[in-house]
Amino acid sequence: MTERYVYMDHSATTAVDRSVLEAMLPYFSEEFGNPNSLHMWGRKARKAVNEAREKVAALVGADAAEIIFTGGGSEADNLAIKGAAFTRRDKGRHVITTAIEHHAVIDAFHWLEDQGFEVTILPVDEKAMVRISDLESAIRPDTILVSMMFANNEVGTVQPVAEAAKICNERGILFHVDGVQAAGHMPFNVRDMGIDMLTMSAHKMYGPKGVGGLYIRNGVKIEPIVHGGGQERGLRSGTENTAGIVGFGAAADLALRRLGDGSIEEEVRLRDLLIDSVTSSIEDAYLTGHRTERLPFHASFCIGSLEGESMLLRLDAAGIGASSGSACTSGSLEPSYVLLAMGITHELAHGSLRFSLGKDTAREDIVYVAEKLKKIVADLRALSPLWENRG
Ligand SMILES: *Cc1c(COP(=O)(O)O)cnc(C)c1O
Repeated sequence: MTERYVYMDHSATTAVDRSVLEAMLPYFSEEFGNPNSLHMWGRKARKAVNEAREKVAALVGADAAEIIFTGGGSEADNLAIKGAAFTRRDKGRHVITTAIEHHAVIDAFHWLEDQGFEVTILPVDEKAMVRISDLESAIRPDTILVSMMFANNEVGTVQPVAEAAKICNERGILFHVDGVQAAGHMPFNVRDMGIDMLTMSAHKMYGPKGVGGLYIRNGVKIEPIVHGGGQERGLRSGTENTAGIVGFGAAADLALRRLGDGSIEEEVRLRDLLIDSVTSSIEDAYLTGHRTERLPFHASFCIGSLEGESMLLRLDAAGIGASSGSACTSGSLEPSYVLLAMGITHELAHGSLRFSLGKDTAREDIVYVAEKLKKIVADLRALSPLWENRG
């Protein structure tokens, strides 16, 4: 038995909030109607889907008619990228993304490359920030699409999205943003920022898994990737996941409240406490990503001369859930492509750790994690020839 259990992997997923679960429950049984049916059962389900669409739209400053529900963030990324590229392929075949995107974006771009598109991958600086000058010089007359994430899942860095949007807007290039880590955690408005398409995912903001959303600015035309009954304005056929969509709406409501009630400011204080504790009390421990332009709930590190996996196992034994690299690539021996793109050495990248805080994380949790990590690092280093022989 450990002293406490501390889940600090909210970038991977979050628990469905009580209020969200309660909003969802009726839509599995009593209110089971198909939103496309004309009778009372159908109308009730349709009304619930429409209300959820309003709530998700309100979270990012969009109109309800600009939100398409999907089966998650990965699907929304694929719809945006493939859908935009195919609609515009007669205007040009050059598309741009960055070296630190989620696999849902990177792999969609690789697939486009197989289909005959030309892909430019923008590098990042040592803080995982894209340089706007690199974007400007990558743009060509035949560039049709740019995709840049709002904030990185592994190292928390928030990108200069508004500046990038402005450049794309001026040149008539579609601008897609993977906003999965940022939506519901940072206040922003898609219209003010000039974003054409924004990906969101319910399970990264206290909603259910398997539900996502794509904001598509009014007037932007894209091709669907799922064909069928024509639901979601023809862009995502299939009977709506009513309960999941209702849950996403409730999660968006909850997020909007949290953005306005001081919760985020407190999250930033706890995040900074963790960053300061780890970097000041552990020798050869470095913050990865940007110090201030970062997600409010995100603290990531590289710990010299150690393996992320061995630290994770010991943290787990101490009741602490964290991660190393991205959830999808952990278990592989290759260090994270995000850390390598930032110019971090292979050796140091192997010692990466990510702690992502949640709405229920308390100050005592931070103190507990910082103390345990310090002890774990000391214990592992006592056994480590790498540490013994460091330069
Ligand atoms: C989690 C995540 C996704 C994928 O969302 P799913 O809903 O899990 O498919 C995409 N992009 C980023 C940045 C993520 O963190």
